[in-house]
Amino acid sequence: MVLAAPSGAGKTTLSRALLEIDDQLSLSVSVTTRDRRPGEKEGKHYFFISQEKFDEMVEQGELLEYARVFGRSYGTPRGPVEEALKAGRDVMFDIDWQGFRQLRAALGDDVVGVFIRPPSLEVLHNRLVKRGDSAEQVANRMIHAEAEISHAGEFDYIVENRDLDIALADIRAILRASRLQTKRQTVEG
Ligand code: 5GP
Repeated sequence: MVLAAPSGAGKTTLSRALLEIDDQLSLSVSVTTRDRRPGEKEGKHYFFISQEKFDEMVEQGELLEYARVFGRSYGTPRGPVEEALKAGRDVMFDIDWQGFRQLRAALGDDVVGVFIRPPSLEVLHNRLVKRGDSAEQVANRMIHAEAEISHAGEFDYIVENRDLDIALADIRAILRASRLQTKRQTVEG
């Protein structure tokens, strides 16, 4: 399941809550060439790597998808995802619309795309300011958010995050329904 959202839409909070209550779910940890932010842990939030290492991974076919966001490279390591899927687990991806497009192309309909939409651009702006982003960061992220929101129509589901508990229940319902799909069950006769 791909969870995509502009930053500030509450995606990180939602994905953490989901991981805690759903033990069939694994989180795909991306590689990135951006700097580590305070509080971020290597291997938990991202694997922080150099551009050279990133290019090497692309060349070796080790990334399922990759994209440039805010002038930095981000990508999904192939190995852990394939292992989790083989073990029958669901994988949650916190990636952007470019990544979703590539995953859809690579893995087809098995990828469920959920776009988390902030209630409004104004609410998003307030959340970014409140969490302490600088004025320049806020301005950049708002531009990026509008671009990201313009791709919401490509996803299978749109969940509005006005109330965290309701959004969480909505995503759980999507996950539950996707697990009940005929193609994911053994059907006799
Ligand atoms: P941040 O730098 O704020 O952690 O992430 C910036 C954006 O990059 C977010 O929209 C996030 O979802 C996206 N992103 C993070 N990892 C990946 C990845 O592996 N692939 C793609 N395509 N986007 C990613």
